Amino acid sequence: MFNKILIANRGEIACRVAATCRRLGVKSVAVYSDADANAKHVAACDEAVHIGEASAAQSYLRIERIIAAAKATGAQAIHPGYGFLSENEEFGRACEEAGIVFIGPPVAAIAAMGSKAAAKALMHAAAVPLVPGYHGDDQDAALLQREADAMGYPVLLKASAGGGGKGMRVVERSEDFAAALASCKREAASSFGNDRVLIEKYLQRPRHVEVQVFADSHGGAVYLFDRDCSVQRRHQKVLEEAPAPGLADDVRRAMGEAAVAAARAVDYVGAGTVEFIMTGANFYFMEMNTRLQVEHPVTEMITGLDLVEWQLRVAAGEPLPLAQSQLAVTGHALEARIYAENPVRGFLPSTGTLKHLHMPAGVEFRLGDAGQRASVRIDSGVREGDTITPFYDPMIAKLIVHGATRADALARMQRALEECEVVGPSTNVEFLHRLVTCEPFANADLDTGLIERHHDALFAPFDRPLREALALASAALIGREGGGVNTASPWQALAHWRLNSGFTQTFKWRDLERDTPIEVAFAHDGGVQTLACAASDERFTWWRGASANEYGVTIGDTRVTGHVFIDADVFHVFCLGAALSFEWQNLLAHAADAEHGEGRLTAPMPGKVIAVLVEPGAVVEKGAPLIVMEAMKMEHTIGAPAAGKVTEVLYGVGDQVADGAQLLMLETE
Ligand code: ADP
Ligand code: ADP
Ligand code: MG
Repeated sequence: MFNKILIANRGEIACRVAATCRRLGVKSVAVYSDADANAKHVAACDEAVHIGEASAAQSYLRIERIIAAAKATGAQAIHPGYGFLSENEEFGRACEEAGIVFIGPPVAAIAAMGSKAAAKALMHAAAVPLVPGYHGDDQDAALLQREADAMGYPVLLKASAGGGGKGMRVVERSEDFAAALASCKREAASSFGNDRVLIEKYLQRPRHVEVQVFADSHGGAVYLFDRDCSVQRRHQKVLEEAPAPGLADDVRRAMGEAAVAAARAVDYVGAGTVEFIMTGANFYFMEMNTRLQVEHPVTEMITGLDLVEWQLRVAAGEPLPLAQSQLAVTGHALEARIYAENPVRGFLPSTGTLKHLHMPAGVEFRLGDAGQRASVRIDSGVREGDTITPFYDPMIAKLIVHGATRADALARMQRALEECEVVGPSTNVEFLHRLVTCEPFANADLDTGLIERHHDALFAPFDRPLREALALASAALIGREGGGVNTASPWQALAHWRLNSGFTQTFKWRDLERDTPIEVAFAHDGGVQTLACAASDERFTWWRGASANEYGVTIGDTRVTGHVFIDADVFHVFCLGAALSFEWQNLLAHAADAEHGEGRLTAPMPGKVIAVLVEPGAVVEKGAPLIVMEAMKMEHTIGAPAAGKVTEVLYGVGDQVADGAQLLMLETE
């Protein structure tokens, strides 16, 4: 076994690999960019080496710097994680030349599987079933059109060098083929530097089922069963599970054996995934991912094995720890990918500081202790206070659950999602909750079109616990302002108010999601308040819970507890599995701001300035566009909150700005 390895990655996967290193007594070296100097993965490793600027091209993709870091720290091997350099032949060769072990397959196997078209030709020779299609060298447009016509529509055009769900086009009719081909080739050339395409029959309502394989350098190869990853958005996985539900034993075995045959055909060594597309009991090879997969934890949960430990052992030249006959499935596991993204805005990535991050009580990865399986596991690369930046993948955490049956695991998953609390960027937590509770998913009626087909139900307006959340927010406000700590607060009067029964006060709130104002009237009457809002007028009592931001309320006969996270005047309430945000309309404070007459205009997220629309001295109307920022693939226009005069512009086009940075100064009337 190695004494020390370098982890050429970041985020949750770097933390994941470091955890196994720690357990095995192997020293770990992190690498980090400017943006990651204080990242969790740096703290998770024994040493860390700075390798460049924030953008991946200037850091995590710089082969020579990573090799130099490994040499400087005396690391014997490099684990590439997933993404970045994990499937990069040049990197594998550079490791070889430097005398460092690449913890992954041989370069020739990466090359063989790197082209989907060439891989299909190899698989055909190895008698692995393929989706009907064309994957030849001849890329003549007229020939491709004839092939598609002969296959029958719809067909799927794929970039042979593609990945991550990019470079694919569904073509419904012969007359659309030429235009789709041209656009697919353009995207393939710009994203992957190679415009070769292949054509597949576009299967209707298929499932994505993949097989985890492992091979050693002594001729051993096994499959660690299957995973269903059919639930996808934009051809990218959202929910994964193992084992794939509803497979007959003979189908499961046939797929496992086909996957092992695929690995053997390219003299594979290490961890790999063979992806199949299925209709009914028929399965067809799609591609092989020559690395550890994002969703590997579900396989770990059902086998009780640590796949990173296996990777290290195999890379160190040891044989596979177990033979096929010693492998078995116990129970069922599900994984949900929690992303900083906005489901209602087409799943566009979101960025910002994680002001509050609470994950369900789980374990941060525990395997290898004699068959011990955690029922809830969190794999995360971020902590509260960290920032999701536009530079890297916006994943916050992977939530993994295990149960004796799929129904058990599903119940745990629902509960765990209800306990996730994130304040800062938008997240897909509520969407994931809807997904796991929707009927087709609960019944394991899985196919890759599930999200699209159930779009209306998945995005239907939510019946939010508005009364309960408002009562909790108000309780937290009274708790904060009534405590008499903040004597400068206009609410210092509350201390007085609490002593005098019969005094009535109105709190003004703004429901941030709906952007609607709400008034809550409180009357103090021997410890009982009255909540008058949303056409209801009820008495409630409140109390503080055991933990810092826990509150409880009783409204009528109902007792509800929840957490309230307060960020200045914004109150984020988590109760009954829902998250609601209200802004306290602190009228006196606002009046003070208005008197001061300064409009502060700050960046709502870290990003880049792409246009400055005003110059100092400009007189603008309320709502006038001032600056345009770009973060991930989204543009944000910052407008004037009120009419006034621009006194200073603090950033120029091309500048990178931090979350909350003041962008310009506006003097309002
Ligand atoms: P996996 O198959 O391991 O679940 P995916 O198929 O979702 O991973 O993605 C394949 C690889 O591409 C992963 O290593 C992931 O980091 C990367 N990736 C995923 N989505 C994107 C994206 N939108 N842009 C760039 N890379 C991506
Ligand atoms: P990537 O390299 O981007 O992961 P894949 O070839 O693995 O590309 O395909 C990604 C997804 O696209 C699959 O998981 C599946 O949902 C869908 N897909 C791929 N091929 C087909 C096909 N022939 N018919 C229908 N859907 C497909
Ligand atoms: Mg794939």
